[in-house]
Formats: sequence, C-alpha cells, structure tokens
Amino acid sequence: MNVPFVDLKAQYQSIKAEMDLAIQGVIDNTAFISGQHAKAFEAGFAQYVRRDHVIACANGTDSLEILLQAMGVGPGDEVIVPALTWISTGEAVTAVGATPVFVDIDDYFTIDADQIESKLTAQTKAIIPVHLYGQPCDMPRIMEIAQKHGLKVLEDCAQAHGAELNGQRIATFGNCGSFSFYPGKNLGAYGDAGGMVTNDADLARTARMIANHGQEGKHNHIMEGRNSRMDGIQAAVLNVKLPRIENWTDLRIANAGYYQANLQGPVTKPRVRPGARHVYHLYVVQSDSRDGLKSHLESNGIGCAIHYPAPLPHMACYSRLGHQPGDFPMAEKACDTILSIPMFPELTQAQMDRVIEVIQNFEG
Ligand SMILES: *Cc1c(COP(=O)(O)O)cnc(C)c1O
Repeated sequence: MNVPFVDLKAQYQSIKAEMDLAIQGVIDNTAFISGQHAKAFEAGFAQYVRRDHVIACANGTDSLEILLQAMGVGPGDEVIVPALTWISTGEAVTAVGATPVFVDIDDYFTIDADQIESKLTAQTKAIIPVHLYGQPCDMPRIMEIAQKHGLKVLEDCAQAHGAELNGQRIATFGNCGSFSFYPGKNLGAYGDAGGMVTNDADLARTARMIANHGQEGKHNHIMEGRNSRMDGIQAAVLNVKLPRIENWTDLRIANAGYYQANLQGPVTKPRVRPGARHVYHLYVVQSDSRDGLKSHLESNGIGCAIHYPAPLPHMACYSRLGHQPGDFPMAEKACDTILSIPMFPELTQAQMDRVIEVIQNFEG
C-alpha cells in the first residue's frame, strides 16, 4: 500500500457537490476579485480566529509584508525571526527594507524565547514568532519581552489555523496575525490566498488600504499601495471549507495521537508544549539516520518530506549576514534529523498502520 504525504483529492471528493456549486456561483455572479465571497469569508474567519478585523489578501507572504509595513516597520529596522521557518518569514522583513535577525529554536521547533533579548538592539522594531508545524510558540513569554522593550508582535500563523495555548487562540496574543491559505495548509484554497487578522482598527484600515492600491473607496488613493486581493473563487472555496475546519483539525489531532501511541522504534516523536493545542500541519519525527530513513520510506511508497533542510540564515540568500555553522545549534541539529511523515485529516488507520510498519522495519 502506498501512502501519500498529503491527499488533497480525498478532501475534495468529500465535499465535491457543494464545492462545484460554490465555484460555479462565483462565475455566475462574476464576483472575481474581492466582492461578496471575500467579504463573507472575512466575516466567517473573524469569528473563527476571534478577532475583530480580517483582511483577505492574495497569499500568506504578502500578508506578512503588508502587516509589517502597516505597523511602520521599514528601512533601518531589525525584526526578530526564528532560524527554522519557511522563507516567507524572512522575505517579508527584507521586502519592507528591514533586516531579519535570526534566533535559534527551542525543543518544540519554535523560536527560543529565552534567546530573544540577547539579539535586541536599538533598531529592533518587531518580533515574528512562527507557530511552526502547527505548534504555538511560547507566546506569554514573547509578549512579556515585547512589552518590556516596546516591540510589535506579528504572529506567523500560516501553519497553525486553530492552534491554542492555554485555551487562547494563536493570532490573539500579538498585535496581529498572518495566515496562508495555500492549498496544502490546514485551511487551504484552490490557489494562492492569505489573510491578515487584528483587533487594532487603525492597523486593519492601513493594511486594507495597502492591499488595495492605497484606496479608501474607489479612486480615493490615500497612499501608494499594491495589488494583493483575494480572488472570488478562492474565497468561495474557503467559505465551503471553513465550517469544516474544526472537524478536520480534530482529525489531524486524532491521527497524531494514533502515531504517538503506536509508533515505536527508531524515531523520536514530536514534543508538545504543555498547554498547547498542536494542530499538526506537519507530523515531524527525528532520526539520526534521517537520510536513510527517508529513502527507506520512499522506496516503500510512503510520502515524506523535510521541513526544512537547512536553517534559513544558512541558506544562500542570507549569506550577506555572515552566519557560521554553530550559530544556531538547535536549528542545525533539527535540520539534520527531521522528517515529516504523512499527516492529513483523511488519513486512514490502515494507512497509518502501514507508515508505522515501514518505519519500524527500518534498520538505520
Ligand atoms: C506557507 C507559509 C507562508 C507563506 O504563505 P504563502 O501563502 O505560500 O505565501 C509564510 N510562513 C510560513 C511559516 C508558511 O508555512
């Protein structure tokens, strides 16, 4: 039996009739950009994330960048980002003219809050905690540091829709949160889409303007902005999926529980932060023979992937920062040992049993 890493088709099959109608509806209404579907999504998602303002936009990279700009982060500023994350987190900082300052990770693959203060300078303006793999960062500690030093906090929630810490939803700790609805994310569109969330009305107004050519009302350009709007088809897709996200999240958590209980043998299973609702965008195991394990899984038809193969500051695009091996020991160790194994809501017990069996047969 082959087991795919993710199976977006399985989910589509389970909602096909409703989805096809919704997409046809967008074409019938010619509500292609922003419009009624995007508005409905903004209202629904605001309820889901428990924030007053949601601004739908084109993707989760734009949403990070627009929020930084809207908070006044720009040239000469520094922004704290984790050493282990997807490139967008760093790219957004550079895109507004600021400099990313990388901080190593903790035992939960998220930014090590205890190391943030040692990286602060007079130029530091903001922190971007990333709830990596669906696990919340240590937000109480991060907010304490931010308040003490007068820093803004933008939560990168691209992998963590619905995650909570001590019963509190992510994206409600910091000044604002950024979501991606890339198809493979926990809540995924059928193309690129993103969302910005906040309780700060001024920040919401500025972010909305930036994302729509600096307009407030038609042809009233208060500033130069850009074009980063959600298209109607993506909004309609998300409107069909939104009422199901809690159920799909519970299924991810149940699947992780099954791995946690039944996967024995030559891998380390992920640690969950006390008090966290980890929503398992990815289920990441560790092995000292990771490359061998990866080949073994692939040759047995089990999908797997590495998120990510190197700490971001060690990638070629950040060579200008001059980091050396050893600067981020935890992230470096993680990148040598991590492997993401199949995780999606529709994963069956038979599929998980097969993944477990193949891992247990590995002689590394
Ligand atoms: C996916 C992702 C993004 C960017 O989202 P896009 O919609 O692909 O632009 C940003 N940050 C993290 C951590 C991500 O995983």
